[in-house]
Amino acid sequence: MAANPRPRRGSNEATEKTRPVATRAARLSGKTHQGLAVSPGVAVGSAYCIHEVFVPNEAETVEPAHVHQELQRYEQACEKTAADLVALRSKVESQVGSDEAAIFRLQESILRDPALAAKVRAAVSEDHLSAQAALRRVLEEYSALFARSHDEFWQERLSDVRDVIIRITGHLSAALKPSKLAIDGAVILIAGELVPSHVLTLGKRDVAGIVTQAGGRTSHAAILARSRGIPAVSGVPDILQSITTGDTVVVDGREGRVLVNPDYETLLVYRAMQRDVANLRETLAANCSAKCISADGQKVQLLANISNLSDAQAARRMGASGVGLYRTEYLFLTHADVPDEEEQLDAYRKIIAASPNRKVTIRTLDLGGDKAIPYLGHNREANPFMGWRSIRLSFEHPEFFLTQIRAILRAAAEDGSRRKQVQMMFPMITMVEELRKIHGMVNKACKQLTTEGKPFAKVPIGMMVEVPAAAVAIETMLDDVDFVSIGSNDLVQYLMAADRDNPKVSHLCQPMSPAVMRTLAHVIGACGRRGTPVTLCGEIAAMPRAAVLLFGMGLRSYSISPAFVPMIKELFSHLTVERAQKTVERVLKMRTTIEITRHMQRELNELCPNIKMLDSE
Ligand code: PEP
Ligand code: MG
Repeated sequence: MAANPRPRRGSNEATEKTRPVATRAARLSGKTHQGLAVSPGVAVGSAYCIHEVFVPNEAETVEPAHVHQELQRYEQACEKTAADLVALRSKVESQVGSDEAAIFRLQESILRDPALAAKVRAAVSEDHLSAQAALRRVLEEYSALFARSHDEFWQERLSDVRDVIIRITGHLSAALKPSKLAIDGAVILIAGELVPSHVLTLGKRDVAGIVTQAGGRTSHAAILARSRGIPAVSGVPDILQSITTGDTVVVDGREGRVLVNPDYETLLVYRAMQRDVANLRETLAANCSAKCISADGQKVQLLANISNLSDAQAARRMGASGVGLYRTEYLFLTHADVPDEEEQLDAYRKIIAASPNRKVTIRTLDLGGDKAIPYLGHNREANPFMGWRSIRLSFEHPEFFLTQIRAILRAAAEDGSRRKQVQMMFPMITMVEELRKIHGMVNKACKQLTTEGKPFAKVPIGMMVEVPAAAVAIETMLDDVDFVSIGSNDLVQYLMAADRDNPKVSHLCQPMSPAVMRTLAHVIGACGRRGTPVTLCGEIAAMPRAAVLLFGMGLRSYSISPAFVPMIKELFSHLTVERAQKTVERVLKMRTTIEITRHMQRELNELCPNIKMLDSE
């Protein structure tokens, strides 16, 4: 029995703390904007509007006396950028290929372009703009110029100019600096779009909430916000025009609402709600060391989705029993150049050591879509999510791919004689042929390592089910894998033909739709009949209403953001197999998403009302 007290079944402790204010927020003042609730919780703070190159939207100026110094800062940043590009080019040349490295030669020439430098210098010396603001202005000019051309060539050049400017800006300011704008306390980040590297740049800074104009429920920026427990609302139309840095903003990540400069009374209500959420999280966190067991004694495996070392540490803190999805692409996205085999080995070893029970499912590179690195395919595609991404991209660079496989096999060797705790998983599998190719590559890596006398361990090989073709034909694929992990974020977007990043089609990108429910039941059932271990690692695994249904379909292994582990543990402690199965039976007969959603809301209200605050609409 766990030493820590769990909020008991039927206990009113958390409910008492949450009830009074949650029901009082009906009367809202201030301008209210509606978007998509992408990360639950409530935040109140001062707006900080950022530009796409991650500098403040407001033009920052420098004192005339400091112009010379600012120009020097700019020159130094350019020198450092030039050195980065040279290093990057030579590393990509040796590890990936000279064609792939050509992009950096081009970026070096953009950096040396006298016209670009002259524009920046003029903006600093004549208009006294800071170097960052000057770079932003130049980027806006180029964007306006290139926007007139629909020519793909010029669009690509614009991406390169943007990349170069982002690199220079990175040297001018390593991270966000809200203090320069005299913002006190919590910051609410307001952006057109947040790409994964932005969220990572936030580091440990006190970002209380995030609001974006673009992005959907499972875009990677949303996933990162959720993993940090930061309330976020995405897909809010025209939000950049409606908010100025310094405005007081409320982010309601449960209902997808954003309030700008609300009155005092409304603010008090939301501040109280924010405290309630924090209290509830604290109460649930007391569950951390408890095992995850249903009300009728079924064991459930709660694993964590991680992107880096601090997530692995959070997974342990929050009481996950292992890592069910390590997204290795973030190692590449955040690395100054290309991590080679030894660097990858070092990173994987550290992740394994930090993860709960040293249990980690390492997913090979899943780049493309909204996660691009220039040296692995920079071409614009009409349909990037349906195109050259993920495993397809890895196959295109076999030596590079092999290096990652070798690094994973070597890192797993530390597992020693214990049960196999490290697994290797491949994303976006569509056909059995791909699995066969993967086995060929893994065998090749094993042979090479044996010849070289480098210690390694054979690991279980798994596939992600996130393409409908794989879901439909799952029975035909199970002979070629040791385990399966369902990637519902992609599976939903592909099944519903609705981009997970596009708020315009978010009404279609619905995990609670009959089509998704039936597909999940089919895959989980097929794996169960064959005895193939199956986990679900998409965001719905941490949505209470979906978790109940998955449990009823027979799923006993969930991989979720560390921040949600205590809540899902609490949920299962109220649930029985019989109840979940009956719910699934009813839901699978329903014909609309809204019917399923309403039914599950009622079900949750009966089952475990206190966690409602930590769920998104
Ligand atoms: C998924 O698609 O559900 C998944 C877990 O992978 P990612 O979100 O990284 O695409
Ligand atoms: Mg995916």
